[in-house]
Amino acid sequence: MSGRAVVVGGGVAGLVLARDLARAGRDVVVLEAREHAGGCVGQVTVTRGGIDGAEPQCPASSPFAQVTLDAGAESFATRSPAVPDLLAELGLADDVVAPSAASAWVRSPDVLTRLPRSGVLGIPGDLADVRRALGTRAWLRARLDAALPARVGTRGDAGVSVGHLVRARLGTRVLRTFVAPVAGGVHSTSADLLDVDAVAPGLRDGVARHGSLVAAASALRQAAPAGAAVAGLRGGMHRMVTALLADLDALGVEVRTATRVARLERTDDGWAVHVVGPSRPGSFEAAVGASSAATVEADDVVVATTSIDAGRLLAPYVPAETIPPVPRGHVNLVTLVLDAPALDAAPRGTGVLVAAGTNAAHGIRAKALTHASAKWSWVADALPPGHHVLRLSYGRLGGEPDPGDASATSLERTALHDAGQLLGVPLTPAHVVGAKVVRFASALPFAATGHRARVARLRDAVGQVPGLHVAGAWVAGTGLSAVVADARRTAAQMTA
Ligand SMILES: Cc1cc2nc3c(=O)[nH]c(=O)nc-3n(C[C@H](O)[C@H](O)[C@H](O)COP(=O)(O)OP(=O)(O)OC[C@H]3O[C@@H](n4cnc5c(N)ncnc54)[C@H](O)[C@@H]3O)c2cc1C
Repeated sequence: MSGRAVVVGGGVAGLVLARDLARAGRDVVVLEAREHAGGCVGQVTVTRGGIDGAEPQCPASSPFAQVTLDAGAESFATRSPAVPDLLAELGLADDVVAPSAASAWVRSPDVLTRLPRSGVLGIPGDLADVRRALGTRAWLRARLDAALPARVGTRGDAGVSVGHLVRARLGTRVLRTFVAPVAGGVHSTSADLLDVDAVAPGLRDGVARHGSLVAAASALRQAAPAGAAVAGLRGGMHRMVTALLADLDALGVEVRTATRVARLERTDDGWAVHVVGPSRPGSFEAAVGASSAATVEADDVVVATTSIDAGRLLAPYVPAETIPPVPRGHVNLVTLVLDAPALDAAPRGTGVLVAAGTNAAHGIRAKALTHASAKWSWVADALPPGHHVLRLSYGRLGGEPDPGDASATSLERTALHDAGQLLGVPLTPAHVVGAKVVRFASALPFAATGHRARVARLRDAVGQVPGLHVAGAWVAGTGLSAVVADARRTAAQMTA
């Protein structure tokens, strides 16, 4: 197999897939709409400045100049070898680092407490861990789990939501206190919209096998590799994208940035990929500042974009009902660098996951706070003493409106307020020595009930069209682990 493959979308899925195809001898071109590749994995440099880019209010006391951090994904799940194997191939194995062993916390409308480590998704693997946080009544209700028949909460042909499963077996309080913050903070949605089979495969069946949901959650946790559930890269996950691009360059793969694919056309002998890209220097389009249209011929096309573009590009070739609905909304990430020695004690461990509804009860709009300098030692090492990096994220599906359209300044102020509330430490603009907002459009997750079945139908439909392939989080599920494993499977099928 030697024909040309065009990969549409230069996120991690597209880059990993392109690399595997090129290593198998294919002629590969990657077309990426934005100015740089990497998609949700990228870097951000926070430079010295107060909120709104102003000079910090305490300039003399802080030697902070700048720090380069991850703009998006900052870690990967260790439950599968997909990312570690890739990092080893890229020569980055020695730079894989574990996060701090400190706990994460959860903030629900009712309570602020430590996240139990014994289970999954916030579902405790041992009820003894959560007795105090739940209170006696809710704790006794949760214990009913062991006495309920296995069918309770686990039946549903079109899938079962995490909310339904937990409410039915452990009661509303466990759902509100532990599981809703994980659904909101990690998966950006309500537990009632999240498909159990998509985010915790094996959990639903485990109830019958182990006799209770708590025992099933514990078994799933124990089946995971020893050590932390996630790992990162010293210097940031964006180093993986830099290494992928270097490898692609060495393999002779062209990665064309600022090149948006507008349409795919099936031709007699393959595909014509219609792109809108930067204009050629000296051309009429360049003279008038317009972009140019062009066509790239291909034998195979891989759609590895975000969901909105994937749906549009595939629409002429697959039945409309197989295309997953596009989740509305976006994720905004606010990075704050603070000169605040009061945070040296890491009052909330590695950070806090926040349940929807916490805004009404406590005026907190963030869905998660990561205390990055407490979580990753390489971040702490990059800062002057007494300085800290906090990352607060905004935007979830199916919840209250998020401040997504707010200006950067107002988001930074909201983040500073939320950070003070969540960490229990008074924080004012005088503590801020650097701040940056990064926005991710159409980056919300794809784990709603019924999504997996729809993706299976889509893959069948795509399989009927010669030379057409799909990859990326919109089909594989959110998270680097799922995305990398799926991209490599697809590349292997294409080169088999
Ligand atoms: C803020 C944030 C934090 C995250 N944190 C983590 C984490 O800590 N751990 C983890 O495992 N996962 C995390 N994730 C999820 C993870 O980053 C994603 O699941 C993964 O990176 C998705 O990769 P992808 O290649 O499928 O999609 P994307 O990264 O979305 O890449 C798709 C690419 O396609 C391009 N594109 C779109 N349309 C076109 C077109 N028409 N023509 C050409 N190009 C096009 C886009 O510009 C983009 O570069 C996070 C996500 C976000 C947003």
